[in-house]
Amino acid sequence: MAHLVSLLWPDYYRARFFTEWQFMDCRPGCGACCIAPSISSSIPGMPHGKRAGERCIQLGADFLCLLFGDPRRPVVCSAFSADPVCCGETREDAIRLLGWLEQATA
Ligand code: SF4
Ligand code: SF4
Repeated sequence: MAHLVSLLWPDYYRARFFTEWQFMDCRPGCGACCIAPSISSSIPGMPHGKRAGERCIQLGADFLCLLFGDPRRPVVCSAFSADPVCCGETREDAIRLLGWLEQATA
């Protein structure tokens, strides 16, 4: 029995770790991913996309995308989802992490 528990508990913790790690709800009022990274595809009002650190013109005052559910929303935006690796724990974390990723992949 002890052998069985020692085998199962690591799996339980591993599964729990990866479940919590992979799924994260987008943080209300953040909007860092609409500011920090560059976007090369066309955005309504920004036909040439946007530069890193530039606020997207479609980011509302409440830090929500004005194009949510609109087919004109860039595919790259729809494909991006919150992830602790990029979003961190605060908006400032996300700006820093996304800025670092932008430089690392430039
Ligand atoms: S950086 Fe992450 S938490 Fe912030 S708005 Fe974008 S997806 Fe949401
Ligand atoms: S189009 Fe919307 S989701 Fe994409 S960067 Fe602009 S505000 Fe953010």
